[in-house]
Amino acid sequence: MAAYQDQGIVLRARPYRENDSLVTLFLINQGKVAAVAKGVRKPRSPLLAGLYPLSYTEFSLYRGRSSLESVVGAEVIHGFGRIREDLDRIGWAALMADVVDECFSDHDSSPEAFYALVAGLETLNEGRHPPSVAMATVWHLLRAAGFAGQFASCAGCQGELKAGMVIRAGHFEPLCADCALMRGGSSTRFSAGAVKTANRWLELPPAKFGGVETRGRLVGEMVRLLTLNLTAHLNRPPRSLQFLGQLMETEVEEPR
Ligand SMILES: [Zn+2]
Repeated sequence: MAAYQDQGIVLRARPYRENDSLVTLFLINQGKVAAVAKGVRKPRSPLLAGLYPLSYTEFSLYRGRSSLESVVGAEVIHGFGRIREDLDRIGWAALMADVVDECFSDHDSSPEAFYALVAGLETLNEGRHPPSVAMATVWHLLRAAGFAGQFASCAGCQGELKAGMVIRAGHFEPLCADCALMRGGSSTRFSAGAVKTANRWLELPPAKFGGVETRGRLVGEMVRLLTLNLTAHLNRPPRSLQFLGQLMETEVEEPR
């Protein structure tokens, strides 16, 4: 295979050699791809605008004998410039990119994840509530990767989770209090509100990301739920989530 075109999102970009960048792209048809963008850090490089992290770009790529592809053209479709104006939005957008990067292997394409990521970036760029947009997006990304699980019923007795749920360390499955007690081990309790929010996020159409908001103490609870999922599937949560957790601990004073 030689030259091809595909649309995608820039997940990461880092300096490489004197004027080049190494980029990680998530393409609609080709999935996750590592590529070198030659000369992109020279002044007035025509590739520059299309290779900013999180840009939605029409790429021309070349696959030679090297394991790295080459970016030969990059026409930006949407730069999501408003995300870059705000540290909170940048942090939540970085989490979405990290989850795609860590949940998908190279050339493992997922149009479902791709369109969820684009919708997440669009709604974040529109100014909707960052944690509500980003966590709804991430649950859709996890579902596309097969990691989301379900929150409709107890994994032990199949009963409804009306009174909340319990997640045991290392086993990402929802249990009612009785089933959790029988199984023992260390566990985390989640409120009925958290169960309802997780279910509603998974049901949201991507264009409505941010339409189900979570505020106050529930934000911290939803971050803990996501952290348990990512820890169970990726061994450790992405650094961007740890950063967001610290950011929120300094911002949100939980009522006692
Ligand atoms: Zn049960």
